[in-house]
Amino acid sequence: MAEGMCSLLLLSLLLLCIVGSCELCHAWWNKDFCYDDEFCPGAVDYDTRGGPVAGKLNVHLVSHTHDDVGWLKTVDQYYVGSNNSIQVAAVQYILDSVILALQEDPNRKFIYVEQAFFQRWWREQSKHKRKIVKRLVKAGQLEFINGGWCMHDEASTHYIDMIDQTTLGHRYIKKQFNKVPRIGWQIDPFGHSAIQAYLLGAEVGFDAVFFGRADYQDIAKRRIDRTMEFVWQGSRTLGSTAQILGGVLNNRYSPPDGFEFDIQSAEPPIQDNPLLYDINVQEHVDSFVKFAVEQGKDFRTNHIMWTMGDDFTYENANTWFKQIDKLIHHVNKDGRVNAFYSTPSIYVDANHAENVTWPLKLDDFFPYADCPHCYWTGYFTSRPTLKRYVRQLSAYLQVARQLEFLIGKSKVGPTTDSLEEAMAVLQHHDGISGTEMQHVADDYAKRLALGAAEAEELVGSVLPILLSSKLEACYEKEINAGSGDTSRSPPEMSDSPVNKDTLLKVQQCALLNISYCPPTEADIVSGKSLVVVAYNSLGWAREELIRIPVTNSMLEVKDSKGNVIPSQLVPLSEGSEKVRNIYINGGSQNKDLIFYLVFYASVPPFGYNSYFVTTSMANNPNQARKSSVEKLDSGAVVLKSHDLTLTFSRNGQLMHFENHRTKTNASIEQSYCWYNASDGNTNKSRLQASGAYIFRPNSSTCFPIQDPDNYAPLKVIRGTLVDEIHQEISPWVFQVVRLVKTSEHVEVEFVVGPIPIEDELGKELVTKLRTNISSVGEFYTDSNGRDFVKRVRNYRSDWNYNVTEPVAGNYYPVNLGLYLKDNEKEVSLLVDRAVGGSSLTDGELEVMLHRRLLHDDFRGVDEALNESICIGNGVPCQGLVVQGQFFINIHPVGNAARWRRTQGQKIYSPLQLAFAVIPETNHSTITTPEFSSLIAGYELPPNIVIITLQELDEKNLLLRLAHIYEANEDAELSQVATINLENLFAHRKIDKLLELSLSANQLRSKMKTLKWKHESGAQMVGSPIRGARIKDGQFSIEIAPMEIRTLSIKFKNDN
Ligand SMILES: [Zn+2]
Repeated sequence: MAEGMCSLLLLSLLLLCIVGSCELCHAWWNKDFCYDDEFCPGAVDYDTRGGPVAGKLNVHLVSHTHDDVGWLKTVDQYYVGSNNSIQVAAVQYILDSVILALQEDPNRKFIYVEQAFFQRWWREQSKHKRKIVKRLVKAGQLEFINGGWCMHDEASTHYIDMIDQTTLGHRYIKKQFNKVPRIGWQIDPFGHSAIQAYLLGAEVGFDAVFFGRADYQDIAKRRIDRTMEFVWQGSRTLGSTAQILGGVLNNRYSPPDGFEFDIQSAEPPIQDNPLLYDINVQEHVDSFVKFAVEQGKDFRTNHIMWTMGDDFTYENANTWFKQIDKLIHHVNKDGRVNAFYSTPSIYVDANHAENVTWPLKLDDFFPYADCPHCYWTGYFTSRPTLKRYVRQLSAYLQVARQLEFLIGKSKVGPTTDSLEEAMAVLQHHDGISGTEMQHVADDYAKRLALGAAEAEELVGSVLPILLSSKLEACYEKEINAGSGDTSRSPPEMSDSPVNKDTLLKVQQCALLNISYCPPTEADIVSGKSLVVVAYNSLGWAREELIRIPVTNSMLEVKDSKGNVIPSQLVPLSEGSEKVRNIYINGGSQNKDLIFYLVFYASVPPFGYNSYFVTTSMANNPNQARKSSVEKLDSGAVVLKSHDLTLTFSRNGQLMHFENHRTKTNASIEQSYCWYNASDGNTNKSRLQASGAYIFRPNSSTCFPIQDPDNYAPLKVIRGTLVDEIHQEISPWVFQVVRLVKTSEHVEVEFVVGPIPIEDELGKELVTKLRTNISSVGEFYTDSNGRDFVKRVRNYRSDWNYNVTEPVAGNYYPVNLGLYLKDNEKEVSLLVDRAVGGSSLTDGELEVMLHRRLLHDDFRGVDEALNESICIGNGVPCQGLVVQGQFFINIHPVGNAARWRRTQGQKIYSPLQLAFAVIPETNHSTITTPEFSSLIAGYELPPNIVIITLQELDEKNLLLRLAHIYEANEDAELSQVATINLENLFAHRKIDKLLELSLSANQLRSKMKTLKWKHESGAQMVGSPIRGARIKDGQFSIEIAPMEIRTLSIKFKNDN
């Protein structure tokens, strides 16, 4: 305050005191002030220093902002601050403002999480500003926490995508700041997975993971037991070798009431100026101490954390920091508790130093409920087509990265970078979860489509080089230009010696899933061959049936050696035609007769094989066989493969499943039904409706789709390679049951929607399997597509569970599959995307496939989840139609893991098809019709998959090998596997090999994580096993069950 103003105040106060007594006068009279070089009473030099003090309750004040990577606004709108009529939020100003505020006082600290935003901002900063930020990071004033591209969802995400998005953020932080985030900060996701704890936590090198949301019953008990913080051991297999400190935050991620200091907050600021009215500083101090002491009772040490921030707060960082400065000063002057600027890392270190024993937590935190009728289990299925799109592109990204590595990453594009970034954005907890507004979901899909288009361009440019044997030519050029070293380095697309104009034109079909593929549907004229290239991104050789839509019924198929192979024509189902007509033909009927041409492709690992489809003369015995089609409306149906006999009821319901090879049989009835979504009461928010987040059926009844008295006619399609049953179960539920002759499982393809809402009832569609398995309340669901977690109906392992929602409260996230077992057999169901699933009655499994709702569920999104398709051209919009697949199998008990793991991997990574047309007489234009990038004859063992093969900017290869079996899951395959890495690279020689942490931002050997003492109670499967450390100069590596090893490889002759 200026001296002149002080004099004025002095005069005014003198006047006030003559007129009568007052608070201000009192303050003035009792103080010496406003002399030269002294402060007025309103001016305080706040003491913001401080740190933990022994013997006191220490309140760690953590300044933070929670910035959703898309929710009510798109990620870019949140960044720039547009569309503020929906939500006032602008991340660019948050970061601008925080950086200025941190410079004002070296004691102030701030944490930042979402790299999707930070990197947008960083790329816009001047050199000068970057220097300042680097200084703040170095000084510990700005700390990166969590540090992934987004704060990923934990229910509908696949572990490979979680690793990818975390790696993307961590690599930037490492490169720009040479920092390694220490703490997991999953403060907003709606439930927490075992994978998050042990894989994305401990294996990343985090010391702790904090979150804001846990079941309200769970939290109530944790407060009493003082188990809000615990040692979390998420892996049954890796056990004590992958533990982390877990913590439920005290007040979700907000400060206690009265301490929300945002510019938008309605709460009064701290007023400590005695010259002004409404002094409230003592009330704030008293309230601070009261909240702190109350919170302290629920926690084990004399350290507690306050999360000083909320959604998109700190747009004016000054309002927060100024108030917290005052708080720290006055609270510490008061002395009852000790407060200071802190970060979760400082808090964790302080807790660790206390050397206390923590409770042990196994399994996970699903499902999450925030009140008795509010189970957040709807989002496991919300936006099923967006969830499928993400899963499909997850696999495609792996394919594109493998091909990018083979040819060398281009500096000028196309690259896989934009798909990588789009996929990372989608993992956000309001992205793939389906809890964003519709316009944001549209933006997400657009980002994915643009990234996929670039990756497709990349794949389309690499395959012709491989097919025409030009890969060698590319390498030769490098060798000639180089030192003469015969070892090879990758050529680059940009300076490729290959004349692209002379290469084949390869096309891909992103809409093959809805039976649409222009190159295969075009008339294959006489004299031309349609080349079908099937790429296999797994390290195992595969023989699988592939299906392409064709319009010509006179076709034959040859393999790459010129031998005719068996093929079959299968008519499209009514369901497939319906979807195709909606999207391709604008709702009108397809004019051309469409079949699926099916044949076996035999594809080497990490490679491809080519097949040649040509027109065939009449009466040619090699021609694709037409399937027989029977229309049935009564009597049972039996389908047989080599080992299976499936019996269906006369209305097409699967009834019985028998495997002759394994001598197993079970009654399995498969059906569809729907729950009537609670409509709550729009006038009273506490009457909970089913919505994007929450699943709340208004009764436990699941209404059958099929009218038992009215049998829908069904078509039975039989052929030499595959049999199918096509059914229209209702006008909005279609199904194909497919039995491939060499297969031991059943594949079910469903087309559901538009869900009818004319009756004004929201509906949630499930498929149920009713079996004769005595499952005694138990079932198993996967954690993010990896470990399986045992679930017990109406039971929670951590507290005495009060059942208020018998259906929704038993739903769990499913990414890979779920199963039931008894003493004799197991029934498994595998899925093609994230869904919700349960077992509500012994012997039953169910998964939710689609939901269409008419009310908002009051968790902020303020829209009903009522997705529609609008294709334009004057065609009216209609409800979303979903197409997908699930897979069913039975096994003798203890023998099912092998199918679940192998088939699950194949579902995740389907053969990727590409097409070209060449002259029939000149198949020699394809000089390399079959290719594997592994050394000849090598394939990975059946328990190992490569989950990352990505060339990084530094020309290093990032390679992750994952063991896909848990301990004791399979007698033969739950063993340590050994891989000689040299076998993986037929075209390159390894020079250097380093093992990294899971997110590839530090050497594994340098990874130091805190060890935590815990109470006993660990459920271990023997002692955990880890692969041996890699010895210098050796390229052989051991991988133990459920282990993932992350490697950085440099090849010889790389620059
Ligand atoms: Zn959030």
